[in-house]
Amino acid sequence: MRKPLIAANWKMYKTISEADDFVKQFVPLVKDVTDVDKLIAPPFTSLNAVATAAAGSGIIVAAQDVFYEEQGAFTGEISPGMIKDAGGTFVIIGHSERRQYFHETDSIVNKKSKAALRAGLGVVLCIGETLEERNTNRTFDVVKRQIAEGLAEFCEAEFKDTVIAYEPVWAIGTGVTATPEQAEEAHGFIRSIIKEIYGDLADEMRILYGGSVKPENVDEIMASPNVDGALVGGASLDPQVFSKLVKFRRG
Ligand code: PEP
Repeated sequence: MRKPLIAANWKMYKTISEADDFVKQFVPLVKDVTDVDKLIAPPFTSLNAVATAAAGSGIIVAAQDVFYEEQGAFTGEISPGMIKDAGGTFVIIGHSERRQYFHETDSIVNKKSKAALRAGLGVVLCIGETLEERNTNRTFDVVKRQIAEGLAEFCEAEFKDTVIAYEPVWAIGTGVTATPEQAEEAHGFIRSIIKEIYGDLADEMRILYGGSVKPENVDEIMASPNVDGALVGGASLDPQVFSKLVKFRRG
């Protein structure tokens, strides 16, 4: 049985005091929802404030990226140990914005994931095709390559600490959502690919959908059998709105 996970990716939004305010409003709104895991990924600067404000609430605190070295002359980078030190227990890796603007390849995504897992962090590994890739019927090839290379050489324990987020790039921040049928088709395919590599462990892996999820569409997206949660950008910035996603209607 896979426990649903609803995850907030705040991207480059919120100061420390705004992050603190959010958590103080959000915690009471979702305190009775125990059958859904909640995750918040603030910018690095607010990681510790969110971890402090969320202490004891069960909310998972995640970074939005990590570097694969533990320390050294890597100006501007943050290591897995630094994320843990700030109170984070998870990290989002390979978000399409990192791939697009910061040229992250599948091999970098794999190195970052391995380093984070080695340090004891959980990983949300993002994959997904662009509009051009979908329109030229390459969705399955792209997703298959991202999985094979992103998860390359993961041992069983590493695999168990990993969550996949399928985020079609054309649906992120655009207001366009994949239909429940498109999401289920992609998620079913992803699970079948993972099954080829890891066998029945694939049935335990959570696969989140991301791309313009909001209160109006969360119920139908979450009703798909292979969708185990959501990674949410825009609709995660307001505590009232995000709490509605956590309280999606169970089928
Ligand atoms: C995201 O940033 O991962 C995302 C899915 O954004 P949005 O919900 O705004 O489309």
